[in-house]
Amino acid sequence: MTTRPQHRPILALLVRAWERGASHLLLDLSSTGRAPPRLRIDGSLHDLDPIGDTATIWQATCEVFELQAQERRIPQRGRAQVRIGDVDVGIAAEVIPVVDGVFVDVTLWLADPLRVKGLARLGLPLEQADVLRAAVARRASGLVIFCGPTSSGKNTSAYACLIEANPTKQAVATVERVARVRLPGVRQSVVDEDAGATAAALLRALHRTSIDVVYVRELMDFETAEVSVQLALSKGVTVLTTVHTPDAPSALTRLLNMGVEPYLVAATVRVIQGQRLLRRLCDGCKQATLPLTDALRAAGVVDDAVGRCFGAVGCVACDQTGYVGRVLVTEQLVLHDALTTLMIDGASTAELRACARTHGMRTMREAALAALMAGETTLDEVLLNTTA
Ligand SMILES: [Zn+2]
Repeated sequence: MTTRPQHRPILALLVRAWERGASHLLLDLSSTGRAPPRLRIDGSLHDLDPIGDTATIWQATCEVFELQAQERRIPQRGRAQVRIGDVDVGIAAEVIPVVDGVFVDVTLWLADPLRVKGLARLGLPLEQADVLRAAVARRASGLVIFCGPTSSGKNTSAYACLIEANPTKQAVATVERVARVRLPGVRQSVVDEDAGATAAALLRALHRTSIDVVYVRELMDFETAEVSVQLALSKGVTVLTTVHTPDAPSALTRLLNMGVEPYLVAATVRVIQGQRLLRRLCDGCKQATLPLTDALRAAGVVDDAVGRCFGAVGCVACDQTGYVGRVLVTEQLVLHDALTTLMIDGASTAELRACARTHGMRTMREAALAALMAGETTLDEVLLNTTA
């Protein structure tokens, strides 16, 4: 937290970034680059007005993040927290040396644990929120897996489940690469591979303690997967985790490919949630697409949806982008006998997906089309982020 006058040049940029809902602020502080500062908002980049004096910005950046101003030849990183309006915002800077200066990438996030959303505010359909609620209830056990690419809101979903698990009633722990938000009552451990504190080692240590719910961010190797399965199976723990797969059925295949035995997957996996964040249409300027275009029809939008689909336009409120915020679209795969039989028989991801659909799984594409027909997002966002 900082308010010194010499910090103002960088603070002014951070406040603008935060107020516009940016996740990143990109600063080209090279002597010849002179690209304007850019914000990443809802995944897309937007230019700000050029900054005058890069030396002043660099000096202020170094003071705020406690970096060495003289050192421009090696990468540096720093973290800090600033108060903007009535919230605490966490900020982390990655400094990359470039040919004639440095490039700074600042990540911003809400650091206030009171503002972490619970399940009711994630934007999930009620029945899907109930499935997650049951999975983290007392005496539940098993694996809950969130999957999707980077920036699909997996961590936010997992945190919402941790809050739902109620850390005052259950013993809740996390194993993370970076503990960005401190959650009250939750034991948060940070992986330090060099020191031997791998995710698997931390989970094994938790196995020896009294524990009900664990969140291990990113399931990347067999060792971590194996000890997660053991926690669920022999200790009755609910293990929340994330994997980078495009959809829920491929997360099952990923676990098998990691080397987890199919019968153990069948015995422990409780629910897999595939998810994406689509840009949300600005209510101030969105315009109905009338009549239905061929593109909409090809995507499966039916004629009686005329007037319910909108396109992005742009106004002052949304910075001429046509979008404000994001819409969460999900698919939930809950294991059942038909699916586990197929899996044990070595079925392909496509076969697993077909089976899940026959048994009522609504796909992310279907959820995205529902958001389109509810006037929340555009066809472009649906086609960009989901597959049929
Ligand atoms: Zn607008």
